[in-house]
Amino acid sequence: MSTHGQDHHKDHHDDHHHDHHHDHDHHHGHDHHAPPQPDDKVHSYHQMLGIAVKELLIEKGIVTAEEVRRMVERRDSITPANGAKVVARAWTDPAYRDRLLKDANKAVAEFGIEMPTTHLVALENTEKLHNVVVCTLCSCYPRDLLGLPPSWYKSKAYRSRVVVEPRAVLTEFGTSLPDDVEVRVHDSTADMRYLVVPRRPAGAEGMSEEQLTALITRDTMIGVAQVDLSRQ
Ligand code: FE
Repeated sequence: MSTHGQDHHKDHHDDHHHDHHHDHDHHHGHDHHAPPQPDDKVHSYHQMLGIAVKELLIEKGIVTAEEVRRMVERRDSITPANGAKVVARAWTDPAYRDRLLKDANKAVAEFGIEMPTTHLVALENTEKLHNVVVCTLCSCYPRDLLGLPPSWYKSKAYRSRVVVEPRAVLTEFGTSLPDDVEVRVHDSTADMRYLVVPRRPAGAEGMSEEQLTALITRDTMIGVAQVDLSRQ
């Protein structure tokens, strides 16, 4: 089951307004007419649909609750540290860098990271080129590599503005680039994901691969930040 597919719909349709019909039979064991409690989560139409589909799949014996739980647990355990290892290796091993830029799926598989259903492309930042990643349609993100996307990545403001005024958006993230650096925005799709390989900062020459890994944050691999030695 693709969790991305769920998010696709959820993120894309959250802004639509639907009339909810609460007079149907349901098995959720709670009363939709009770006044909301402070810790109650208000589900959108598509979140409700997602829950209903999941319950049906379990009821029909297609998946078990344990399989769903295990998948969610596995998803939640993926962190940007995976991507940081890949980037640090690319910085320290020119042959690995070449393999990563040529075939990122194969190169991340060397770290045991499998992305069987999506094509991964590594984008290298240089002195003259800065790459930024977005999914203008919804929330496509290299989840198998970096984990779940930050909420701002899924926001309508980021998705629409970074395409039109990338430099202004980068400035809001505290990232200012010289005028002669080209900013290139890459729009992710359901089957194409991007990993930004940030520039190795000056002053990091003597650092080990492990020390370098600690410098590489999630935002630098999305392209809204640069690796900054002074922040460590
Ligand atoms: Fe998407």
